[in-house]
Amino acid sequence: MNAIETLVGELGRLPGIGRKTAQRLTYHILKGSRDDARRLARAIDRLASEVRLCGACGNLSDMDPCEFCRSPRRDAGQLCVVEEASDIPAIENSGNFGGLYHVLGGRLSPLDGVGPEDLNIRGLLRRIDDPVREVIIATNASVEGEATATYLQRLLASSADVRITRLARGLPVGGDLEYADGVTIAEAFAGRREM
Ligand code: ZN
Repeated sequence: MNAIETLVGELGRLPGIGRKTAQRLTYHILKGSRDDARRLARAIDRLASEVRLCGACGNLSDMDPCEFCRSPRRDAGQLCVVEEASDIPAIENSGNFGGLYHVLGGRLSPLDGVGPEDLNIRGLLRRIDDPVREVIIATNASVEGEATATYLQRLLASSADVRITRLARGLPVGGDLEYADGVTIAEAFAGRREM
């Protein structure tokens, strides 16, 4: 396959990008400067070679521990549990959470064969100790996200003495946290309720 076809094929594998869009993007890159094209290639190459999982929280970062886990300014007493690392930027942009994160790496979904042992739950239990006062469960407002939240609430309530809260409704049902706007997320945090 020639260079153009190769890139069209690779871009076309990305979510939400059909063949037509992949072609448009490819020719857009071709029309730009060679330097721009090489910068894009280097950025993708760095993702592949430098980004790793944070051993403490499961976030994706080029540092391990990640920038949140190593920051003395974050409140280690609050732990916000999210499905994916891609949820974190949306919460950070909302500007009113100053605690630490824990990334599950998915959600419970029996139909897809995803059980508790497939998620980063053991790591969560290891972190629930003295400094943690509150666990805020911020899984998505989907059927699977709610089931995951209920599972975690039962597990944590039986194994640790912490306050367990859930983000307020108001986030789009079935919608992903990562696509919610900052104001909506800030309100969901402010209105979080005990589970
Ligand atoms: Zn981390």
